[in-house]
Amino acid sequence: MSGKNEHITMLHGAGGTVMHDLVKKCILKYFGGTSHAEIPLEALDDAAVVGDTVLKSDSHAVKPIFFPGGDIGRLSVSGTVNDISALGAEPYALACGFILEEGLALTDFERILASMKNTCSEAGVNIVTGDTKVVERGSLGGCVINVSGIGRRTHALEKNLQVVKRFRPSFKARWVLDSNLAEGDKIILTGTIGDHGIAVLSAQEGLNFGSNIKSDVKPLNRLIQHLLSEVGGIVSMKDPTRGGLADTLNELSEKSNIGILIQEKKIPIREDVQAACEMLGLDPLEIGNEGKMIIGIVKEKAQEALAFLRETEEGREAQVIGEVTREFAGVAMQTVVGGKRIVPRPVGDPIPRIC
Ligand code: MG
Repeated sequence: MSGKNEHITMLHGAGGTVMHDLVKKCILKYFGGTSHAEIPLEALDDAAVVGDTVLKSDSHAVKPIFFPGGDIGRLSVSGTVNDISALGAEPYALACGFILEEGLALTDFERILASMKNTCSEAGVNIVTGDTKVVERGSLGGCVINVSGIGRRTHALEKNLQVVKRFRPSFKARWVLDSNLAEGDKIILTGTIGDHGIAVLSAQEGLNFGSNIKSDVKPLNRLIQHLLSEVGGIVSMKDPTRGGLADTLNELSEKSNIGILIQEKKIPIREDVQAACEMLGLDPLEIGNEGKMIIGIVKEKAQEALAFLRETEEGREAQVIGEVTREFAGVAMQTVVGGKRIVPRPVGDPIPRIC
C-alpha cells in the first residue's frame, strides 16, 4: 500500500475493494485501535458511537455541483444525515466546511447554501458551526463540502431494540449495526436503484437518455425514526451509496459473517435507468444511490415494515429483496432466468465523483 511508486488514483475514492483496501491498510494503520468508542473507527460502520453520541464526517466532491434532482449542498447534508440515521440515531446538529474554488460564481454558492438550508429544514437539523477556505482555480469543479454531524439515541431506537429482543432474546447490540444480521433476517430495499449515479453521469457527460432520470438525494432520518418506532425489529441498516447495492450488501455480509441471497426480480429499478445501464455496459447493482436504505429486519416484522414503507413517499417502491442465510458466505443473487450468481464486491463505483 505504501510502496514508493504507488499513488492515489480515482479508484481510491470509488467505494469498492480498492477504496476499502486504502482505508484498512493505510488509514486504520494510524488511527485504528486507539479509541475507547463503543463503535470505533475499525468497525467501519456508517458512523462512530462515542458515549451515547453518534459522530459522522463526510466530504462531498460531486462533479458537476448541480445535477438533475439535486446539487452538492443537498447531497452533503443528506449524506451525513443518512449515515447517522443508519445506526438508528437521530441527527441533531451539523458542522460544515467549504473549500471553494477561485472563480465559483457567488450566485452558485448562494444557490448551494439555500439548498443546504432547505435540506436541513426537511431533516429537522441545523448547521451550527463551519469553516470556509478558498483554493486556486484548478480541478475542484467549483467547491468541495464537508458536513459532519452528531446524533443521539431516541425512544424510537429503544422501542425498535425491544421488538428485536422479543423475536431474538440473545440480541445484545445497543445500536443498529452492520454486524447484527443473523440467519433468517429479511433484507428490505426502500426504493429504486441507480437513479443518482445515472443522473450525475448524464450531467457529467452531457448525455440524454431520452428520459427524466433524477437523483434520489434525500434525507431519510424522519422516515427511519418512524419506522423504528412504529414497526421495529430492525437490526442493520446501510445506505447503498458509492459501489451501490453490491458493495453495501457485501459489507453487511462480511461484518455479520453470514450469507445474503437476493432475488433479482425483486430489485426495484426504473426502466430508463435499466436501459441507460445496458447502453453504457454498467451494472446497476454497482451504481451509487443517495436516498435509499438497505434494511435488515427480523423476518417476523418484514411484511409490516414493507407495508409501512409503501405508505410513505420515500418508500413507495420498497421491496423485500432477499434474506440472510447460513448456506453460503458472501452475496448471491437468484437471477430472473433461474440461475444463481455470486454478487462480488465491485473494484469501485463505475461512475467517478458521484458524491
Ligand atoms: Mg453510509
